Amino acid sequence: MIVVDRIADLRARCEATRRSGCTVGLVPTMGFFHEGHLSLMRAARAHHDLVVTTIFVNPLQFGPDEDLDSYPRDVGADTAAAEAEGVDILFTPSVPEMYPEPTVTTVHVARLTDGLCGATRPTHFDGVTTVVAKLFSIVGPCSAYFGRKDFQQLAVVRRMAADLDLPVEVVGCPLVREHDGVAMSSRNAYLSAAERESARGLFAGLGAAAAAVEAGERAAARVRAVLEAEVARHGLDVEYAEVRRAADLTPLTELDGEVVVAVAAPVGRARLIDNVTMQIAGAEVSVDLGVVTLATQESTR
Ligand code: AMP
Repeated sequence: MIVVDRIADLRARCEATRRSGCTVGLVPTMGFFHEGHLSLMRAARAHHDLVVTTIFVNPLQFGPDEDLDSYPRDVGADTAAAEAEGVDILFTPSVPEMYPEPTVTTVHVARLTDGLCGATRPTHFDGVTTVVAKLFSIVGPCSAYFGRKDFQQLAVVRRMAADLDLPVEVVGCPLVREHDGVAMSSRNAYLSAAERESARGLFAGLGAAAAAVEAGERAAARVRAVLEAEVARHGLDVEYAEVRRAADLTPLTELDGEVVVAVAAPVGRARLIDNVTMQIAGAEVSVDLGVVTLATQESTR
């Protein structure tokens, strides 16, 4: 594996790879790797000749009062983990390399960024789409791997790539959970033992919501109520609990087709998000809660 921190260098290597008839898999991240990140690298490794993983804590996607400065970082451990997964190029640009000038050009995806995380983080998705568009431009034609943990982000990036005819296949990958169901997240590092216990409330709430749908409930308001009650029972304040059509995030009143039930709650200093997707056809319900890993977040570090 080589570590690259210059845009021109990464672009040249990706171009040379494609010229020789090989394909490129891209895994954009903000680092502090856990099994969720590693699962994306494995998916890219399984399908592509050259695997590029990027680590960039993107200032543009953080609000003024958010955790940009304290966001967990460990480039040494990340380098070893990426190497162990067979990543070919680890791209670790500096902020001035990515943004040599104050940003005046941004990418905005309308509608899909309304509500959910967009409600409390009004500039977040413009930051995400701008940096992801830059990475797609630098890496060029490739498949890019994103986790369904950040379901709204995946939908927004997919729509951006389609609307702008970017030569990138956006691939969604399963949400990875710890043994007790808590979704893996770099921000779990902020949690005390007691907060980590409360964090289970998000998964418990989604499980209860899925059980209600499996038992025949189709009214979004009642599914939301089940979710909110279970999250609150774990002592958490719900930031949002919503039911949306999975493909384009349209709000739903009745559950039908492929839906996503998404939740966010502050837990201590962290703000955690989680979701479950369900395929509903009449009385048939198939629930996708993601995958449970045997590795703990601690042991990945
Ligand atoms: P981040 O470093 O948090 O920006 O995440 C980088 C990529 O990893 C994004 O595509 C995330 O959706 C994905 N990711 C983060 N956590 C998980 C998880 N628990 N399961 C699957 N993918 C994840």
